[in-house]
Amino acid sequence: MRYIISGAAGFIGSHFCDRLLDEGHTVIGVDNLITGSLANLAHLRRNQRFELREQDICKPLQIDGQIDGVLHFASLASPKDYLDHPIETLEVGSAGTRNMLEIAREHKARFLLTSTSESYGDPAVHPQVETYWGNVNPVGLRSCYDESKRYAEALTMAYHRVHGVRTNIARIFNTYGPRMQLKDGRVVPAFLDQILRGEAITIFGDGSQTRSFCYVRDMVEGLYRLMQSDERYPVNLGNPHELTILQFAEEIRRLTGSNAPFVFHALPEDDPKKRQPDIGKARRLLGWEPKVELEEGLRETHRYFADVSAVLV
Ligand code: UDP
Repeated sequence: MRYIISGAAGFIGSHFCDRLLDEGHTVIGVDNLITGSLANLAHLRRNQRFELREQDICKPLQIDGQIDGVLHFASLASPKDYLDHPIETLEVGSAGTRNMLEIAREHKARFLLTSTSESYGDPAVHPQVETYWGNVNPVGLRSCYDESKRYAEALTMAYHRVHGVRTNIARIFNTYGPRMQLKDGRVVPAFLDQILRGEAITIFGDGSQTRSFCYVRDMVEGLYRLMQSDERYPVNLGNPHELTILQFAEEIRRLTGSNAPFVFHALPEDDPKKRQPDIGKARRLLGWEPKVELEEGLRETHRYFADVSAVLV
């Protein structure tokens, strides 16, 4: 099969390229490198079945030849990045999604949208199940991300209903692992970077807000299975093991043998207080659930960031 994948140089996108190539497919990656990194694809430089186009998907793109699947990963997924670039974030979720859907329609290819747990906003239902419509502040700081992804979901459903495109929508919950950007502000790289530098660990708010962390290998498996399914409505993918941020910080300290102190900062606006995926639907439809324990995933991620930091020094 010949696939096109937006956001190929990003964290999850680059891992998904690896998976497609491992399965014997041909991959055209597209990325404008606003948050992605060529280093994430360096190992594919000589792979004959992989090609990278440095291009912004918000502008129409011409793809010749057969395309069997269009995988839309491009997005500014970290709160720091989307707060720095709110207009680009809205644009990639709207115009970018439209352009990718157009490719799928023209080529009669299947289409996967990587959406987000942020579709639920600061959820009033816990754990979050796909039938919950969410609690999103449409004009808050996070709205550029949340609303662009909600629009992208609506557009994907419209292309399915109007044009019969075979679509899938994944709602990705917090995911971590190698190839995250060390300085993207998200909690896993932030804490590991602080520990590696011997700095204090920054806890936002009182640390009682919760998250559930999925290792990237599990996420890729879930996405790969979803991409082959006939489910058109959103499917949550994430790890249901929920921790407060304070518990999470303690766990990272324990695993890395660090005794870095905690320092408390103000909680960012609209930071969701609780987040845990209900993955009953993914279990039923895809026979999928996360397998990698937090301890194992954090060890691998710590090793990766230690190597990256060593290069940066
Ligand atoms: N967080 C924190 N310290 C940091 C970075 C993040 O306490 O240095 C918190 C943040 O307030 C949020 C959680 O960790 O409650 C996860 O943040 P992240 O930016 O990774 O992603 P989010 O789940 O908010 O999209």
